[in-house]
Amino acid sequence: MSAKTDLRSLSRSELKSLMPKLGLAAFRGEQIFDWAQKRAAASINELTNLSAADQKKLAAACYLALPVLIKKDVAANGDTAKLLLELADGERIETAIMFYSGKDSRDRVTCCVSTQTGCVMGCKFCATAQYQKCRNLTAGEIVSQVQMADKAAKELGSKGLTNLVYMGMGEPMLNLAQVKKSIELLNDERGLNIGQRKIAVSTCGLPKQIRQMADWKMQIHLAISLHAANDELRRNLMPAAARYPLQELLAAADYYQAQTGRRVCYEYALFKDINDRPEAARSLGKLLDGRGALINLIPANPLPETGFMPSDDETVKHFSRLLSLYNVEVQIRQERGRDINAACGQLRKRTLEV
Ligand code: SF4
Repeated sequence: MSAKTDLRSLSRSELKSLMPKLGLAAFRGEQIFDWAQKRAAASINELTNLSAADQKKLAAACYLALPVLIKKDVAANGDTAKLLLELADGERIETAIMFYSGKDSRDRVTCCVSTQTGCVMGCKFCATAQYQKCRNLTAGEIVSQVQMADKAAKELGSKGLTNLVYMGMGEPMLNLAQVKKSIELLNDERGLNIGQRKIAVSTCGLPKQIRQMADWKMQIHLAISLHAANDELRRNLMPAAARYPLQELLAAADYYQAQTGRRVCYEYALFKDINDRPEAARSLGKLLDGRGALINLIPANPLPETGFMPSDDETVKHFSRLLSLYNVEVQIRQERGRDINAACGQLRKRTLEV
């Protein structure tokens, strides 16, 4: 990583106080923020309202860079796209874009954001889990990833991104400071101006960090990857979850809901013959009954190398019907991007293999 300062990682006030230290007028900070955040400048040379002398002073201590687009895959039906991006140190990350249309979700374009270059959580069903040696992304790298996705979304005919979900490669709660900073940058009205209510952070469930996030008092959504309603099965599916018993996790989720007034979403990927039996649905219903929870049932993407296969449609529908007997709201997420390896980590793996 460069010893220089990434201008895309800095807030407007940080930029304004940095400028005099570099011999530039403080008001340049606002201009640079505009270039770095709104206009997605790829280098300091693009900052054409700065003199050559000021560009030189800036470049001596700072930099601006965008990731390199290595690959862009678009699903045959056009509803999903996936980008493979290379960062300055050669690490590669994936970013997915999902296009929604219809009267309830007209023009919604959601970006699935990566926060690390791999993941140490070791979920058994996840292609990213094989990249245990990984590093955290900086706030600037997270923002630049979103900017690349926004550009790609526009090139594919939309008006650009409307929603973000931090659920690509990596566990956001293990990179909480940079996640928070990136949300503040992306939410800034002088930047991409993505509303807090259009942003969700998805975690496999780290109670301490969920409580920290609750204390931000932001209006962002929290999604928890549950995938099992008892500790034993959850440990088998998500080994890192063994450190956080379900009761501790749910207490933290209740705290988040109480502090922010935002309903917590529980993600439940259905794997054939593993967690899709009627008794699993009843256990899940009992666990979340009366918590004001939204349960998102996800027909999993097949990952033959891990042995996990998706449940069939009828099983998913029956699971949903059983859950609706409890005081919870249930929705079945539409399956997407199977033909472009949409599960996180799959595109990077496939690209390494060819
Ligand atoms: S599912 Fe998420 S938390 Fe689990 S290994 Fe994959 S990227 Fe990490």
